[in-house]
Amino acid sequence: MTAELYGIAASDGIAIAKTYRLESPSLEFDKKSIDDPALEIERFHTAIAVSSEELELIKDQAEMQIGPKEAAIFGAHLMVLSDPELIGPITEKIENDLVNAEFALHEVSDMFMNIFASMDNDYMKERAADIKDVRNRVLAHLLGVKFPNPGLISEKVILLADDLTPSDTVQFNPEFIQGFVTEIGGRTSHSAILARTLEIPAVVGVKKLMASLSDETMLIIDGIEGKIIADPTEEQIELYKKRKIDFEDRKTALAALKDAPSVSADGFKVELAANIGSPKDVKSALENGAEAIGLFRTEFLYMGRDSFPTEEQQFEMYSEVLKAMGDKPTVARTLDIGGDKELSYLDLPKELNPFLGLRAIRLCLEMPDLFRTQLRALLRSSVHGNLKIMFPMIATLDEFRQAKQLFLEEQEKLATENIPFNNNIEVGIMVEIPSTAVMADLFAKEVDFFSIGTNDLIQYTMAADRMNENVSHLYQPFNPAILRMVKMVIDAAHKEGKWAGMCGEMAGEELAVPILLGLGLDEFSMSASSILKTRSMISSLSKAEMEKHTDSILALATAEDVKNYVSQLVDK
Ligand code: PEP
Ligand code: MG
Repeated sequence: MTAELYGIAASDGIAIAKTYRLESPSLEFDKKSIDDPALEIERFHTAIAVSSEELELIKDQAEMQIGPKEAAIFGAHLMVLSDPELIGPITEKIENDLVNAEFALHEVSDMFMNIFASMDNDYMKERAADIKDVRNRVLAHLLGVKFPNPGLISEKVILLADDLTPSDTVQFNPEFIQGFVTEIGGRTSHSAILARTLEIPAVVGVKKLMASLSDETMLIIDGIEGKIIADPTEEQIELYKKRKIDFEDRKTALAALKDAPSVSADGFKVELAANIGSPKDVKSALENGAEAIGLFRTEFLYMGRDSFPTEEQQFEMYSEVLKAMGDKPTVARTLDIGGDKELSYLDLPKELNPFLGLRAIRLCLEMPDLFRTQLRALLRSSVHGNLKIMFPMIATLDEFRQAKQLFLEEQEKLATENIPFNNNIEVGIMVEIPSTAVMADLFAKEVDFFSIGTNDLIQYTMAADRMNENVSHLYQPFNPAILRMVKMVIDAAHKEGKWAGMCGEMAGEELAVPILLGLGLDEFSMSASSILKTRSMISSLSKAEMEKHTDSILALATAEDVKNYVSQLVDK
């Protein structure tokens, strides 16, 4: 029966396809006594054979999608599957104790995992994680339940999930993943940002999604309105096919602006930049007319692998981006791990409030070797293009000074080693914590630039988790409190002759752009797919006119008032 569900519009566009539920199956089983061990061992070997076939395919797919180094994790899993030291004791246990394969597998793998996990050696700890992944896959096959393999999808589907982690999403093949819908999340959760980077439609924060929809249900995603339609009628499918064509046509028309300058109707020039997460994204940034990379989220290079990338590997990836961008600036943000971005191989203590915990620059200052390696790789790559560096989650001037000090020390070391680097790199910060916005006047004397990270600035100012759909009504980009802070930051930068950009998703929002233009924002950095729309909008707006409205807008009482005021301005 046709059903409509609503959520948060996370990425524009229309998709029509069958659903694919991405969920961890229940792997519960009972211990059983068996009387035919040969048969049980054969069952076990069949599950291993099927798992190996799957892993071979995933490995090939990952090599093509994300590269051989990153695919190495699946090679490690294949080695576990063929390791006689693990397989031998399992078959022996089935034979000697006359127990079912599920139980023998669980017992033996648990024993190895405990031994490895207790070793004071990161490499061995990673092996424990590999065994667990492989064990779960084989167990699923023994139990006959579906084990989710996002990397193996080879037909056009719409993914349904409770939530998507960055490590799920790095496996996506956009050729097949037509769009996705999640139960958790908001417009600025990482899965939503990724959907915009891949230019696939997505709706997030759909309550009761997983309880309402099963596998292989025909589904329409309307990523413009934030709506999904399950089991649509023929008429609805026809209607949405037309809307999909209209959407594509609008996109094609905007493509004419690819090489046009970003200037307002009264001649004020701004910079429109793209946010990227990997060297792969540069192509789409340039195709969408990006004049710079305003945010390179380097932490994604640390994900979907089983150990930290080496200095050399990082150097290659940063250089690839810089070379592709040529003279155009690239702002690389140093590692921003924590919050919803975890590394499987970095065992951090569980925190009650990870978004308020040891993340980003806090973690880097706590683990200086990790940070120094990244700074060195960035510095070395700087000879290949126009690099700027910024630190995430700066809350105090002390943090900035410490991070800058490490940066200067790495510069000095390279100089004594005669390794070339650009010694004029601008070093800035993200302003995404209210304390820093409020102190922007003092920061502006020491940093080279600001990039306002509204995704986090809004959540910390409003105390409303950006991932939590239950408080999404409080996650208000247009709340005057946010706009006043944005003004403080831009004014503080300009007073010291510095520039201010914005790399939060707000920079590309239709109603935010006129306000930000009026406030004098210099650089707008957003998902590549929003750039051309924004360029078109800016060309129709007058900066002087918007400036005149700034005081009135900042004096409004609510986010709703602001949206109404600006809607009327742009409709005129
Ligand atoms: C932000 O917080 O606005 C931002 C751009 O960083 P991220 O979305 O990666 O947290
Ligand atoms: Mg942030």
